Amino acid sequence: MTRWRVPFVDLSAQHRALAEDLQTALRVVVERSIFIQGDELHEFEQQFAAYLNVPWALGVGSGLDALRLALVALGIRSGDEVILPANTFIATALAVSATGARPVLVDVDEVNLGIDVGRLLKVITPRTKAIIPVHLYGRACELTQILEVAARKNLWVVEDACQAHGARWNGRSCGTVGDAGCFSFYPSKNLGGAGDGGMVVTSRRDVAERVRALRDYGQVGKAHHVMKGLNSRLDEIQAAILRTKLPHLDDWNRRRAAHAARYAELLKGCDGLRATLHSPFPEDVFHLYVVRVRERDALKDHLARRGIETGIHYPVPIHLQPAYADLGYRQGDFEVTERFARDALSLPMYPELSRRRTELVADAVREFYQPPRRPDRSQPRVRANRRAIRRSLRGGSASA
Ligand SMILES: *Cc1c(COP(=O)(O)O)cnc(C)c1O
Repeated sequence: MTRWRVPFVDLSAQHRALAEDLQTALRVVVERSIFIQGDELHEFEQQFAAYLNVPWALGVGSGLDALRLALVALGIRSGDEVILPANTFIATALAVSATGARPVLVDVDEVNLGIDVGRLLKVITPRTKAIIPVHLYGRACELTQILEVAARKNLWVVEDACQAHGARWNGRSCGTVGDAGCFSFYPSKNLGGAGDGGMVVTSRRDVAERVRALRDYGQVGKAHHVMKGLNSRLDEIQAAILRTKLPHLDDWNRRRAAHAARYAELLKGCDGLRATLHSPFPEDVFHLYVVRVRERDALKDHLARRGIETGIHYPVPIHLQPAYADLGYRQGDFEVTERFARDALSLPMYPELSRRRTELVADAVREFYQPPRRPDRSQPRVRANRRAIRRSLRGGSASA
């Protein structure tokens, strides 16, 4: 495996810092030897609900299952249509397909990254039953008009908050605004387990009760099956790990935001960058730090040669994936989304990222667009000097 100078994410740094607590949590589960639907799940559900300020939280097997079960609990089934943004992770669409309903894509807003509400009314038909707004990259998408349209047209709203743990919209936690909200605890999410996991949150008792049954073979009580459910539960080991990590989430999100501010400062005026670097959303939790760049693929290769790992979210939009050829969409149908596929680049982002590493990344990006005139050999010294000057301006703080 490649050793990156700056990896895209570094989970081991986080786990080193919490090693003792995590080991204790795991030991307790193994000693108790209850591995499914025990105290850890119960406690974590309560803590997560309290953190978000929502009445019910139900642990499930993954973010995809959280979306799928929330939709089924709201009655979505074959013959229905569900609207979602074209620029999202494919799981949002797969959750709709899993219910038998048809995913209907809408292009996105360049700034808040959610469904372009100007286009929303045009795709609503008598078969439309729900809208899934996605809080992409950790940024709350605009919900006001979506809620308004949903109320007027009698549609459910299921928030995909799988990238937005702790993000807020109008003072409320993302995921708690619609009829249901869905989270993923995939290891690299802002709150991640040691495997797969997910959560449905809701203020509706009926949705909570149905998800509770659906995740456990559709049973209510013991051996009384009221629905054709599935097996999708958040196990005790995951719940114990997530419970240990949850108290750190706000601090980690603050650190992500500080790195984002630093990137924005270091990359200001860089002429290969197209979009604003500053997030206009103060409660963005920066699951990803996405910049829009010229010659994206060449820049990505350049950064890789300098030991910097980057990502693309997402290189092939859902409407151009072979799996969704049946929807009948074509190249050119979603212009903004297709532009993201061409020019979006996700820079390294994780709470433990150091100041020095953000500088390495920013220097390498600048170097790509403004190649050094002098021989390469002088560059390290120029950079070291620049750093020394910056340090002295900051009053000698030498934190890396
Ligand atoms: C990660 C993610 C999912 C799916 O979560 P899993 O736990 O991987 O199934 C769904 N939607 C979005 C936007 C995601 O980022």
